[in-house]
Amino acid sequence: MNLLYSNDRKAEYPASWYAATANSVDRFPALCKDETADVCVVGAGYTGLSAALHLAEAGLNVVLLEAHRVGFGASGRNGGQLGSAQRMDQEDLERLVGNDDAAKLWDLAEDAKDLVKSLIAKHQINCDLKPGVAVLGLSAGEQQDLHEHAAHLSGRYGYNQIELLDETAGHALCPSPSYRGGYLDMGAAHLHPLNFALGLAQAAVKAGVRIFEGTEVTGIDEGQPAKVQTANGTVSADHVILACNGYLGDLNRNVASRVMPINNFIAATEPLGADAARVLTQDVAVADTKFVVNYFRLSADGRLLFGGGESYGYRFPADIAAKVRKPMTEIFPHLHDVKIDYAWGGTLAITMRRMPYLTRVAPNILSASGYSGHGVGTATHAGQLMAMAVQGQAEGFDTMARVPALPFPGGPALRSPLLVLAMTWFALRDRLGV
Ligand SMILES: Cc1cc2nc3c(=O)[nH]c(=O)nc-3n(C[C@H](O)[C@H](O)[C@H](O)COP(=O)(O)OP(=O)(O)OC[C@H]3O[C@@H](n4cnc5c(N)ncnc54)[C@H](O)[C@@H]3O)c2cc1C
Repeated sequence: MNLLYSNDRKAEYPASWYAATANSVDRFPALCKDETADVCVVGAGYTGLSAALHLAEAGLNVVLLEAHRVGFGASGRNGGQLGSAQRMDQEDLERLVGNDDAAKLWDLAEDAKDLVKSLIAKHQINCDLKPGVAVLGLSAGEQQDLHEHAAHLSGRYGYNQIELLDETAGHALCPSPSYRGGYLDMGAAHLHPLNFALGLAQAAVKAGVRIFEGTEVTGIDEGQPAKVQTANGTVSADHVILACNGYLGDLNRNVASRVMPINNFIAATEPLGADAARVLTQDVAVADTKFVVNYFRLSADGRLLFGGGESYGYRFPADIAAKVRKPMTEIFPHLHDVKIDYAWGGTLAITMRRMPYLTRVAPNILSASGYSGHGVGTATHAGQLMAMAVQGQAEGFDTMARVPALPFPGGPALRSPLLVLAMTWFALRDRLGV
């Protein structure tokens, strides 16, 4: 089964609130003849768009191939949270790679946040960028852990954009009975994810990138040049960048053994009117500390955009709204009867350690994926790092690539059933509160 077509119609966006409020954009043509390029990029999410944009700005001849539409994948469907740091906590990274590389990874994550903000400013991308992401705990112990984590970021990395929230301050921000405080990170931000992707595409085209939509890459003949195969044409390129993330499939077995697709779901309620203040009193986003994380914010038109619930097979559940309503009403019981106007799923990629997997698949083929739910900043940044590596400046790429990446037990064939077991166990722990 091919994940590219498991849940969606070819070259159509899912019926999300993001697609309903997308800035208008023309379709790009499909590839229908043989082309040559300095670099062929596969996949038009943040990773591929950013790589293509930065390469074209450096004067290279770039072709970008996308099976569906620009921002069709996770980049057009996500929670829109531009979080700080890497996905793995700094404390854990220090233990895994040592203090020096952990400090470099912290700096790279700050670069990732700055890159998104500066791309939006430079290319005047209209995507509702706003500061502020709160992280809220479900118990007094979790509140304490979050405060200690914030103190660590401040003490070791000089990060001072975090405001601690005790239980009262937490409730003043988010009046859900579930939460016990945490912190508000004003260096983090949130945005309209699809419009960010579409803006990157426009900037890339202006810089000279040739984008082809509705063009699935079916194989890559390694060599110099490499030959990228599609149904109706090929691209011969000196370099190839794989930016397929959760949809990679069998395009590369090494990456597939370390990167696993999973699905996550979001619902958009009807506009809440005055009730919006019973969800959030500031225009910031929230993520909580559950293993299957709940994340939410208000849309520009006053809807609750609530993300919660995962699945680990190829197919999305038949009733996504019901799937999301469950965690949503656990957090906001007063919304049990609210109408859900949009509900959609997205496929992302995770790694065993929840750190992105950047690797050289061949001397002239680079891949970046596995952002583990933290890709708004890090995927955009990985695209830039790959563009620099293609030009011989590989320091940032190599720092990311040095993070040890474990294969999933069972390899591509068995990783899914084993993961389901592991995830179900962690999700059960969430429910039991242990
Ligand atoms: C529901 C959901 C919520 C999330 N929330 C957040 C969040 O709040 N904050 C955060 O930081 N991250 C979040 N993420 C993760 C984030 O969206 C991803 O990490 C990021 O978008 C990855 O970008 P990408 O370009 O690597 O992949 P994608 O955006 O998935 O792009 C990959 C593209 O490659 C194309 N493709 C794949 N195979 C081929 C092929 N063979 N030929 C041609 N094209 C191909 C696909 O069609 C797709 O468009 C979330 C993800 C989901 C699904």
